[in-house]
Amino acid sequence: MKIRDIINARPVTISCELFPPKKDSDFAGVQQAARKIAGLHPDFISITYGASGGTSKNTVEIASMVQKECGITSIAHLTCYSSTPEEVDQVIDKIKENGIENILALRGDPPRDTSVPIPGHYKHAYELIRQIRQKGDFCIGAACYPEGHVECANRDLDLDYLKMKVDEGCDFLTTQMFFDNNILYRFLYRALAKGIDVPILAGIMPVINARQIQRSVQLSGTELPNRFCGIIDKFGSDPAAMKQAGIAYATEQIIDLIANGVKGIHLYTMNRPDIAEAIFHNLSYILGRGENV
Ligand code: FAD
Repeated sequence: MKIRDIINARPVTISCELFPPKKDSDFAGVQQAARKIAGLHPDFISITYGASGGTSKNTVEIASMVQKECGITSIAHLTCYSSTPEEVDQVIDKIKENGIENILALRGDPPRDTSVPIPGHYKHAYELIRQIRQKGDFCIGAACYPEGHVECANRDLDLDYLKMKVDEGCDFLTTQMFFDNNILYRFLYRALAKGIDVPILAGIMPVINARQIQRSVQLSGTELPNRFCGIIDKFGSDPAAMKQAGIAYATEQIIDLIANGVKGIHLYTMNRPDIAEAIFHNLSYILGRGENV
């Protein structure tokens, strides 16, 4: 099923993200996590795409397994920066052959040893969106950044580039993680003012590991509000307490987003069914799922 149809049909969607195994020996563990997360009946599951070509095979395999074995719609992420257009083309063919109708089209991060685009490769995600559109009837998602993408000096320009992705035929957007909902609300107004009218799903990261989050916010430029820093200061060195506080913080964020009319929540579940389950449980009535979670 196409994700745009799922979004149109539901008052609120909740989806989860998985990353594929980096090594073949991790495959069974990821499949197990996928089965457990699928058992919560999210509206769809997204599977990330590693920076190196090797994990692309696993992205499609896990996305295919989620659909065929678990009966949950999946979306395969696809990046274009470190592959030739021909290589990207082959992955799109594989996605299609496996019956996956949804692709999250991304540029990807530059490889560590170079930030200069490789000649002949796509430089930006809008070019990939154009290629996917030409290749078939896919539902296409793309990334957006409520606090601006870290490489873009100007948030307004970042929105102009985001509009290019929408104009190329992207059906919906998923945000980078954020920890202050007011940042998202301001972003939604600014996006609408630019004519960006596709659904925007709010990316929520339940933080359970203080050290890990400090590293990823440094890389992404995400702001940590004082209230959140207070939680990390107090509980960061106690894993069980940090997990409980992180789940509670994410739950509160989601309740506020839904209460304010946000129609899609995308959970960065990091292959942790226990975290997804706790959040689904906390939101069972809010999501209209009653006691069945
Ligand atoms: P783009 O939209 O191409 O933007 C990248 C930068 O270029 C921005 O600064 C933008 O302002 C600028 N730009 C865009 N168009 C133009 C233009 N025409 N001219 C000049 N500048 C322009 N990474 C992975 O490797 N695998 C994943 O699975 C993955 N999943 C993700 C999922 C989500 C929801 C998000 C938010 C990010 C994900 N990422 C993933 C990270 C992503 O690849 C990086 O953030 C990357 O740096 C930017 O990708 P993009 O698709 O947003 O790029």
